[in-house]
Amino acid sequence: MAEKAGKTAGVEAEGNRSREKVCKRCKKIYDSASNNSNSCQFHPSFFVCRRHDDQKRYYELGPDDPPYAAKFYDCCGAEDPQASGCTTNFHVSYDDE
Ligand SMILES: [Zn+2]
Ligand SMILES: [Zn+2]
Repeated sequence: MAEKAGKTAGVEAEGNRSREKVCKRCKKIYDSASNNSNSCQFHPSFFVCRRHDDQKRYYELGPDDPPYAAKFYDCCGAEDPQASGCTTNFHVSYDDE
């Protein structure tokens, strides 16, 4: 009787090793124990280079501006790449998926 159970290989230390994780969205180190829906501030969309298409406001390209001068976050229209996130949610770690 060959009893070589390969499926029950020890997975016990899961979740108990370290609570410090790196968020793949904001790249910050966080403690999973204090992760809440306001922990992570981010932009759900990309920083794009085109005109605002919401008609509410748009960057008017000057005659000397290169075509890529109009850059903003597609989600909220923030024109500063360093602008803090417009959305908050839980941090998402690399092993959450
Ligand atoms: Zn985060
Ligand atoms: Zn945004």
